[in-house]
Amino acid sequence: MQFVECTCGEKILVVPDVAAMSMAVKNHLGDHKDADEQFLIAQIFEAASTQTQS
Ligand SMILES: [Zn+2]
Repeated sequence: MQFVECTCGEKILVVPDVAAMSMAVKNHLGDHKDADEQFLIAQIFEAASTQTQS
């Protein structure tokens, strides 16, 4: 399993489901108001693009 780490240290699980990822980011923004949403999204895309298909 692959995670992205927010600047606050929170880990968000990367799943191959755009809606679920979007929800996870929104949930984290609820907990961490100053989270950098663009940074998180960029990290998620990078993680997803390197994820091996098996
Ligand atoms: Zn955070």
